[in-house]
Amino acid sequence: MTDLTKTDNFLTCDEVRNANSYHLSLNLELLRGCQFSCKGCHVDTYGAKPLTDEWMTQLETWLDSMELEGQYLPTVVFVGPTDFLVADNTIEVLTQPRMIAFLNRFKRLSLQSTLIDLKGFEDIADVLKKNYQQMELEVNILMEPEHVETEKYLQTIHKHRDQLYTYLDWPKLIKSFCIMNVYDYENVKKENIAELLVNYREMHKRVSDLFDTTIDFNFSLSRKHDKLKPGEAQEAIIRVTKMFDTSVDRTNNQFIRFSFGKLTDCLIEKHYNFLNGQWFVSPLLYDRYAAFVEPLRIPMVNYTYQETECFEEALQLNQYENAGNKTECASCRYLGSCIDRNILKVMDIYDIKDCIIARDALDVINERPT
Ligand code: SF4
Repeated sequence: MTDLTKTDNFLTCDEVRNANSYHLSLNLELLRGCQFSCKGCHVDTYGAKPLTDEWMTQLETWLDSMELEGQYLPTVVFVGPTDFLVADNTIEVLTQPRMIAFLNRFKRLSLQSTLIDLKGFEDIADVLKKNYQQMELEVNILMEPEHVETEKYLQTIHKHRDQLYTYLDWPKLIKSFCIMNVYDYENVKKENIAELLVNYREMHKRVSDLFDTTIDFNFSLSRKHDKLKPGEAQEAIIRVTKMFDTSVDRTNNQFIRFSFGKLTDCLIEKHYNFLNGQWFVSPLLYDRYAAFVEPLRIPMVNYTYQETECFEEALQLNQYENAGNKTECASCRYLGSCIDRNILKVMDIYDIKDCIIARDALDVINERPT
């Protein structure tokens, strides 16, 4: 069973948490293909085009610039968006010499899998062992919320996780995080499950021995921006907000994985998404928020930190300017934190005026000792 007193919030480890620089986290959308159709998943499984030499050069130029600036520590690099054990091109991506060098500049490599199908995992694990052993490894396990009570499903994931980890025999930390897609849990038909799915504590209890932390909720619907129905994004966000507001209290605020964590966390984390030669700022809405939409796209010409920072400053300013058109933001004590996480921009994208954040949970989280 996980020792919950030792789990972190969003930040990856004490060393990172205590450092004085920005912690750079980059999500690279490079993997293609997935045979599963998990509920609530809106990943375009063939949306990531093969990485060109030109894009690789741009990535390197950008990272050089961020590092040279001296304030950015390459901390976590995610390679997704599909299950790395079943994607068509995992080995191809992870064996490209320039990609190996690029990824190794980060402290931690993060991959995700359903762990449902382990066929041929040894080949991928061998590639990881050969090329990435200097890095910490993190495996995000995508769980289908509706199956948290299905014994056979849980046993399979347990078995596969142990098999994979034993084979990997990783010299540095391997962390397992649980990710669940957000969808309309209240209308789930399966008997007795709807009630369970809106109870964060119970959900966590069911899966806690599988993971090093509590559950992350993934708003995969952010990926189908053009096809969202009016109000759909707001409803989904509020669903998770309610769950946090009713579940976070003084008994669990020390360990709950809540990316809003301390108000100061947002000041040292910088998250970006990369898809097909384009960079996007990633808001932090309980978790990283991958939306490939124009208002979040960083217009790069020279692929420098200056362009990145300049875009983010404009994004901040715009949110302060627009705070007055929301019902409560302008006078809210979390305004600065929400703007740092680009929450007000998310609200603008979906034309949301009312608060979408679990403020009760935030109040409790920020009570905890530092
Ligand atoms: S979204 Fe909610 S918590 Fe954030 S600034 Fe607005 S009112 Fe405050």
